[in-house]
Amino acid sequence: MDVLVINAGSSSIKADLLDANDGARRVSLRVERVGTADCFARWDGGPPESLGAADHESALAAALPRLMAAARGGKVEVVGHRVVHGGERFVTPSAIDDDLVAELHKISHLAPLHNPANIAGIEAARSLLPDALHVAVFDTAFHATLPRRARTYALPYELSERLGLRRYGFHGTSHAWVAGLAAQWLDADLRDLRVVTCHLGNGASLCAVEYGRSVDTTMGMTPVEGLAMGTRAGDVDPGILIDLLRRGEVDVDGLDHLLNRESGLFGLSGVGNDLRDIEARAAAGEDRCQLAVNVYCHRIVRLLGGMVAVMGGVDAIVFCGGVGENSAQIRSRVASRLGYLGARLDEERNATARVSRGDQAVARISGDNSRVALLVAATDEELAIARATVSVGRDRHVLDDGAPSGIPIAISARHIHLTCEAVDQLFGPGHQLTPRKPLSQPGQFACEETLTVVGPRRRLESVRVLGPERRACQVEISRTDEFHLGLDAPVRASGDVAKSPGVTLIGPAGELELTEGVICAWRHIHMRPEDAERFGVRDKDVVDVAIDSEGRDLVFGDVLVRVSPKYVLEMHVDTDEANAAELRSGAEGVLDATGATARVLRRRQDTTRNHEEPR
Ligand code: ADP
Repeated sequence: MDVLVINAGSSSIKADLLDANDGARRVSLRVERVGTADCFARWDGGPPESLGAADHESALAAALPRLMAAARGGKVEVVGHRVVHGGERFVTPSAIDDDLVAELHKISHLAPLHNPANIAGIEAARSLLPDALHVAVFDTAFHATLPRRARTYALPYELSERLGLRRYGFHGTSHAWVAGLAAQWLDADLRDLRVVTCHLGNGASLCAVEYGRSVDTTMGMTPVEGLAMGTRAGDVDPGILIDLLRRGEVDVDGLDHLLNRESGLFGLSGVGNDLRDIEARAAAGEDRCQLAVNVYCHRIVRLLGGMVAVMGGVDAIVFCGGVGENSAQIRSRVASRLGYLGARLDEERNATARVSRGDQAVARISGDNSRVALLVAATDEELAIARATVSVGRDRHVLDDGAPSGIPIAISARHIHLTCEAVDQLFGPGHQLTPRKPLSQPGQFACEETLTVVGPRRRLESVRVLGPERRACQVEISRTDEFHLGLDAPVRASGDVAKSPGVTLIGPAGELELTEGVICAWRHIHMRPEDAERFGVRDKDVVDVAIDSEGRDLVFGDVLVRVSPKYVLEMHVDTDEANAAELRSGAEGVLDATGATARVLRRRQDTTRNHEEPR
């Protein structure tokens, strides 16, 4: 499918019409000096063609016929828009509607250089292509998995809460893409790898991709934090900023300009921000250019160490972006400082490494004896955006539509479901289960009755029975309970007890030997159809879910979605899982609310097509 990918900057528009399967560009447009009297366009790197005075909309309108003509069928049905900042709400690619645009306006202050321009591009494209599906793909989204400790500034807590001060991270589309390329190249599952991705372009950031998830990154609430960049300062002692303001050296706008436009390689070298020039002048002995290169590399080495430390090790380090893909010198200067990680650069491979989008996207620059794979990868943010756009287009659902997505979490303690016959046998003929407390799922209740569960090794006393009666007996216990009882129960959805181990139940009126029925409940979310619609998931989908908790943020993979109009929105975890996420409940019952909430991050799998069970 052909997708139009638009990346609108304040004075530029990049638009690529590309095949979302193989990334082939049908046509590539670069418009510059948007908003001035001499706006011009280049097609496929060709000569500039004047557009006269043009804003985003008139520039796109002028280009549209040619873009359409290049599309298969002469029609553009889906448009992917790069949006730099998605704030707290947008953590997955999202179909654009008026509400989303309104939300983007509200969070524009978070990326004042980028988001207003992105919105201008969206508004122009929507008015010119009103029938197309427009999808926003956010640079911040990949970092939605940053744990609380990594995204929190050590500022007064209330202030951060009130103003939404936190680290978001950027270049997420690129980090995710090249981490995926690295895994493919290594013939490994990204979920088994710890990767540091180094996106070194005009803007630059590092990302710690631990088992497929971003767990730290060098950019923060805005793209100024972290590495020294083309024109951005990266980390500076905030005390300097206070001092500059106090001395009247700059006002607030001046400070913004200083940090974003006049610093980095530009400010250090005094000859511009293009590293090619700076490298050439450094080689010719110009002191400030040498200093610029040294500071640039030193900062990468220093922050890269931090990324590795956060993950407790690293399997691969990937360089990408204009600098990362092209400057053998920068890669060499950085990589030669990584011996402490067991990383060995092969200078020959490094000097000759050439990557390009498509089949030659990855090159190895480490030696055969390197403990860490050093790779160069050609990032392709447009293709990543095109793919994300198509996947939203395919099912017209988004995982997070921007609506508040907190899912209440309850801890499910060990419990037993019984058949009517089992109730008779254990509590006496004709016995009626006595409701003690209703559970959140309608019709379900915890009973006064408890039983002893006897396993091969030990027993568990006073295990609560849940009502009403069911068609099969089922004992739901945690992994720790399994060790205690001395059995190995499978992780299963409720009701799926075939070939599970048995256990003996002892009640006041008798014993019952179950031949099967002991399971470790597959962590799951109950939701109504309207919730499922909101989260863009279906019954039996498997999703990743992030849990924010005090000190032990956790992302749970393999969370099963159960959808029924009879349910109430709630995620159920067992006691082991709750402990792992430091979730606490006030009450001591069977299914206790924790007060914590979970967020659906992404859909992993639709189990209606694949019945493998996770363990
Ligand atoms: P952006 O972040 O704007 O997308 P790029 O990723 O294209 O930028 O990176 C642009 C930067 O890459 C240029 O400013 C230049 O400094 C650097 N660059 C490109 N090619 C080379 C090269 N051969 N050697 C050194 N630096 C290069």
